[in-house]
Amino acid sequence: MDLNSQTVLDIQVIQCNEVKGSTHMELEGLKRGLLKLKAERLNIKSLITDRHVMVKKFMKGEEEIIHNFDVWHVAKGVSRKLEGLAKKKGAEAIKPWIKSVSTHLYWAASTSANDGEMKLAKWQSLTRHIRNIHTHPSEKYPECRHGPLEDNQRNWMEEGSRPYKLLCSVVTSPFLMKDIEKLSPFHQTYGLEVYHNIVNHFAPKSTHFFFESMLARLYLAGLHYNENSRKPRDTTSDGRVRWQLCYPKAKKGLEAVVKPISTGPSFGYVDLLIHNLVQRRKDLPSYQVASEALSSYLSVPAPTTSGFVPVDKACLIERHKSRFSKTTNSNDV
Ligand SMILES: [Zn+2]
Repeated sequence: MDLNSQTVLDIQVIQCNEVKGSTHMELEGLKRGLLKLKAERLNIKSLITDRHVMVKKFMKGEEEIIHNFDVWHVAKGVSRKLEGLAKKKGAEAIKPWIKSVSTHLYWAASTSANDGEMKLAKWQSLTRHIRNIHTHPSEKYPECRHGPLEDNQRNWMEEGSRPYKLLCSVVTSPFLMKDIEKLSPFHQTYGLEVYHNIVNHFAPKSTHFFFESMLARLYLAGLHYNENSRKPRDTTSDGRVRWQLCYPKAKKGLEAVVKPISTGPSFGYVDLLIHNLVQRRKDLPSYQVASEALSSYLSVPAPTTSGFVPVDKACLIERHKSRFSKTTNSNDV
């Protein structure tokens, strides 16, 4: 997805038997997507992903593309870990800080442009700020920018205390620190969330779809999103933007937020699809010819069951029956 234009640029469906295992699917999807976009002569300057280990390694080789990590994924991971620690005995003092830690991460990433060292310095200042110390041994970020604090009754932590040590074990974990410098200065994940909701509508997770149907449904989701992602906001008769109150699942339904109401969706892409379908019917006289034409540019992987060892169904039925009769017999006895 191009975040600037809110447009889905490419969709790849990877079936698990096309790669070594399910953990390789994400990387394979990315590789194919990049190849396709490059073939379209698209100049990719930066790419935002989650912190998938294989993706990180692969992107080191793509030197011309700036690789950033999505802050939302990182903040979610940090918050989850802190929530887990806050449940430990004697570590309850972590809880009031969880939201601030997450907000600080977003702030450090979004206010430092591409200056990785600045992102890291701002992030590290947290370990002093929570002890009510607002100057830091860093040339990049020597002092907190919040100014004098009016409310000095916060739950400041003490150095060496159990909650402080536990909180620092997450905040300063080497694995996390290594990635802070590469946090994306943008966090427009809202568009991606909307797209995923549309995907869930066209391809519900509760239903199994074969490769071609899945691909077609994802293309539909992409077409619907691209047509509707930049809809003008709905306004009242006197021109004021209308807002909708909602309780996001991400905030566990505990916190209300507002979002602007968009004008209703349009379905212009359906007319285009029908037009193309009629044209295709005219060009390709039979289903067989159409099917052959499709296979020339779409390679469909073998079904996931194709790697299974053939079984004798009759034999399995007999085995099932005999096991059942044994149980019955033992009950009789
Ligand atoms: Zn501070």
